[in-house]
Amino acid sequence: MELPAIQLPEFDPGWVWLVGAGPGDPALLTLAALHALQSADMVVYDALVDPRILALAKQSSEQVYAGKRGGRPSPKQPDISARLVKLARAGHRVLRLKGGDPFVFGRGGEEALALVDAGIPFRVVPGITAATGGLAYAGIPVTHRDVNTAVTFITGHNVTGDVPDNLDWPALARGAPVLVFYMALKHLDEITARLIDGGRDADEPAAIVTAATTGEQRVIETTLSAAPDRAHEVSPPALFVVGEVVRLRAGLDWLGALSGKVLDANPLDLHTSRDAG
Ligand code: SAH
Repeated sequence: MELPAIQLPEFDPGWVWLVGAGPGDPALLTLAALHALQSADMVVYDALVDPRILALAKQSSEQVYAGKRGGRPSPKQPDISARLVKLARAGHRVLRLKGGDPFVFGRGGEEALALVDAGIPFRVVPGITAATGGLAYAGIPVTHRDVNTAVTFITGHNVTGDVPDNLDWPALARGAPVLVFYMALKHLDEITARLIDGGRDADEPAAIVTAATTGEQRVIETTLSAAPDRAHEVSPPALFVVGEVVRLRAGLDWLGALSGKVLDANPLDLHTSRDAG
């Protein structure tokens, strides 16, 4: 691959870079993320970072795991922040690598504030977040002009792992034509029930997308009320999307088309001028 002369920022010792690794596929890394991987001395990474991405790190770098895995207790957030501070003070180039985007349900802000508090210089490198990148690989656009002019991203977990109860569920149910939930698999029963109670149509199209952008990607097309019965078929990481945009998949599943799926150019059955004439 040839790149024109792009001036990438210098990764100086004593700095922490908070970098988004994207939803999985290493091809979705930014140039700044790749540059960071090739410059960092220390890579502190989370559970959802793909091993193929870690393999891009500088040979001499040290890799430190800082996420949850297999039910083992996860390092506490203050411990991770303290570790970043310590490594930076020791003069390392510290890459804090997170799945998706560090500032989208990724606690990037918390870690950055701890760096500010400690006087450690830092840079943020955004990544492609699962809701947009993952759904794009599933052939589902988060907005489509004929369907929605707003989309809401929601977490299905709060700090304690429960369904967030500080959400105004009826308002959420009415609020946007498309809802994308992160971390929703465990509480899908409750989430779908609250949305239907809040006035959302039980038959509305919905999809569960797991391991998006990786070789294990799976997409279950279903409806709001039927979704919980399908949850046992898959395991995290999963996105849950509710809205008419799911129907566009019949036309936009470009990944499926690579293996022979025939795409429908009019998946919403709109009566276009072409049809009308
Ligand atoms: N900062 C991340 C989100 C971290 S929270 C981002 O911007 O994407 C972790 C949740 O993200 C998972 O529980 C899941 O809901 C979602 N997620 C991340 N990667 C995913 C993937 N490849 N496929 C489906 N969901 C994913």
